[in-house]
Amino acid sequence: MIQIKNLHKYFGDLEVLKGINMEVTEGQVVCMIGSSGSGKSTLLRCINYLERKNQGEIWVEGKQILDRAKDITETRQKVGMVFQRFNLFPHMTALENVMEGPLTVKKEDKNTAKEKALALLEKVGLSDKANQYPAMLSGGQQQRVAIARTLAMEPKVVLFDEPTSALDPELVGEVLAVMKDLAKEGMTMIIVTHEMGFAKEVADKVIFLLEGVIAEQGTPQEIFETPKHERLKAFFGQIH
Ligand code: ADP
Ligand code: MG
Repeated sequence: MIQIKNLHKYFGDLEVLKGINMEVTEGQVVCMIGSSGSGKSTLLRCINYLERKNQGEIWVEGKQILDRAKDITETRQKVGMVFQRFNLFPHMTALENVMEGPLTVKKEDKNTAKEKALALLEKVGLSDKANQYPAMLSGGQQQRVAIARTLAMEPKVVLFDEPTSALDPELVGEVLAVMKDLAKEGMTMIIVTHEMGFAKEVADKVIFLLEGVIAEQGTPQEIFETPKHERLKAFFGQIH
């Protein structure tokens, strides 16, 4: 589904990604862990072209994505992203937020978009909040609307960048539950998270990013039960 070959990214003189190679197959859930500043967000942002890579190749569904407008637009449709801050449109209801992409980008007709949006809100457990504005919703509810909004574009892959980090602890579970359901349905996902319990349970593969390099990767069992890299052990020491 996604293949990344020798990806390099610089911000000025700072090399943030130092030759990343990774592969995500269809239906796989890959969790990415690592300290702050290790390049996790930058890697996700390069995958859907919110950032330009400096070197390397990105392939989506067997097709190399080249640095041109047409490919980038196509990639953004195939590769959805959910952010730490949900960035819903404040002047639109939950329903309108979910309908917006299909209406404006996909040019769906209003009835179709509405029907799909209502089904997605139901899927994330928010049928009763369709007509509420974001300010009336809790952080967890807003993030679930944001997930529905991303799914409305019918992506092939969804990237999550610390989707629960901005939430009060008691709201984390409801968002993780939605993500677990998606995983069960076979959605291909790359998830940056500090929720190790979740990663252990849901991930097919865990990647430990360290200073712009994949320092270790493996099954949850390998990573959590027999970590090899000293820095990975130290990382677990910090967060447990
Ligand atoms: P993580 O998500 O793992 O915390 P990031 O990908 O956000 O890490 O950042 C990796 C490094 O790149 C950090 O040193 C950060 O300061 C730097 N960085 C991120 N975005 C920018 C930017 N737009 N301009 C300059 N430096 C950046
Ligand atoms: Mg980040």
